[in-house]
Amino acid sequence: MSRIAYVNGRYLPLGKAAIPVEDRGYQFSDGVYEVCEISGGHLIDEARHMARLARSLSELRIPMPMPATALALVLRECICRNRVRDGIVYLQITRGVARRDHAFPPPGTRPTVVVTARSMDSAANERIAGAGISVITVPDNRWGRVDIKSISLLPNVLAKQAAREQGAKEAWFVDQGGNVTEGSSSNAWIVTTSGSVVTRPADHGILRGITRAVVIEIIKAQGLEFEERPFTRDEAYGAREAFLTSASQLVLPVVRIDDRPIGNGAPGLIATALRERFRHHATRS
Ligand code: PLP
Repeated sequence: MSRIAYVNGRYLPLGKAAIPVEDRGYQFSDGVYEVCEISGGHLIDEARHMARLARSLSELRIPMPMPATALALVLRECICRNRVRDGIVYLQITRGVARRDHAFPPPGTRPTVVVTARSMDSAANERIAGAGISVITVPDNRWGRVDIKSISLLPNVLAKQAAREQGAKEAWFVDQGGNVTEGSSSNAWIVTTSGSVVTRPADHGILRGITRAVVIEIIKAQGLEFEERPFTRDEAYGAREAFLTSASQLVLPVVRIDDRPIGNGAPGLIATALRERFRHHATRS
């Protein structure tokens, strides 16, 4: 079955879906995106993803291309046409097509909307979570507004590639103060030796992850000790547990950082429990 993409009002086989070369996403990375998990045919935490999308668009002064209700229908249609039960839906909105000029195009330029959906192998993901993953650290060389979910991801691409080349699954960015900011496509967490769950505050230095927000709610509901504060790479090396969160990976235990075992080198109890709880806590629509 050929995959189907939505592009500006049309559903097309992926191979036939196309964007004009002067699209500002292609020319300048001038756009934003969202990735939402699909589980059992349902969108997970859709309302929060759509709220973050609206914020990203507004921060970049890109108009919302269609009413939220219409966008919700497009997402569902795309999921349905691609027959996805467990996977992800990807939504990208750029500032549209205009003659190349760095400054904004004329008012009224229509944003470009693309939606794709694809299945994921949930059993394989569970196996990965059961084993835990390795992470490397890299200097955080990104711009100062990574709280906007922009499609401008070159440092993230290079970081992820560095991880791959070193046999790791994710790279954690470390800022000039030695603090871990976040992963190339995930938020970063540790559990201290005294059992406190720690993640960096969601300022402009990280993306305010939707999974991160849900996991904080679970931690509070379970009465676990929680600190929203920066943590250093050295503190992560000495942590009892480490894990990452994202819509596509949920809660994923980290068992090695820069080739040093974390805790006893196996997925931690808290990370594993949070992964299990996530399913019950996330909102399906
Ligand atoms: N941080 C970055 C840089 C990301 O790209 C992502 C997800 O793609 C996240 C964090 C996690 O966000 P969410 O939980 O909303 O998927």
